[in-house]
Amino acid sequence: MAEAPIGIFGGTFDPIHFGHLRLAEEMAEQINLAQIRFIPAGTPPHRSMPRTDAAHRLAMVELATANNARFVVDTREMVSPSLSYTVDTLHSLRVSFGTTQPLCLLLGADAFLGLTNWNRWRELFDLSHIAIAHRPGYPQSTWKDNMPEALRDELEKRLAHPDDVKSCAAGLIVMRPITALDISATHIRDTLRGGRNPRYLLPDAVLDYIHTHQLYLPEAT
Ligand code: ATP
Repeated sequence: MAEAPIGIFGGTFDPIHFGHLRLAEEMAEQINLAQIRFIPAGTPPHRSMPRTDAAHRLAMVELATANNARFVVDTREMVSPSLSYTVDTLHSLRVSFGTTQPLCLLLGADAFLGLTNWNRWRELFDLSHIAIAHRPGYPQSTWKDNMPEALRDELEKRLAHPDDVKSCAAGLIVMRPITALDISATHIRDTLRGGRNPRYLLPDAVLDYIHTHQLYLPEAT
């Protein structure tokens, strides 16, 4: 029997913002996900270390997701130093959810285009589907030019309709347009460090937390 897929949404979330939340909400609707597991990164291997303490990033994810019944915060990458690669996180999720449960890794287009730099990236398809969300700055018309041939081959081979995701546990790729929100955590950090106000780009509760804990303070000159 087909099972409703579970969405897996990893990120540094430094801090979490409305770009992340709309991606999760719209992918949940479009692919009919039973839940979306937000998994804040511990020590991500393929990008620079997050500057903000993991406990703060986790607290902000918890605040931002608290009032959505489909959103679940999953701390496995934060509590286990061995889970620093997505492929290992997916193996751990397979242990939790079994071999037949459809899992669907949610990625923004920028993340997908960098996939061949990820550890054991081909193994990801044995463990999960991948759902790619459009992201401003990465128009689909330019993807082919920016995509390594090996990734393009996988995309052509695996491209499927969102309804197919529930029919098997892993291995398909779906691409979905979502509301284009040109928001990044980098821009929010820069705004705060510049002494400006990033309100309306992220939930008020997260911004309050940032102020209370004096995160992303302007650098002393
Ligand atoms: P930073 O600016 O620090 O690199 P970010 O805003 O890109 O951070 P991440 O935590 O690195 O956020 O991203 C987690 C995931 O969310 C990635 O798959 C990324 O592509 C996706 N994502 C982030 N912001 C958006 C957005 N505005 N629209 C679509 N996808 C997004």
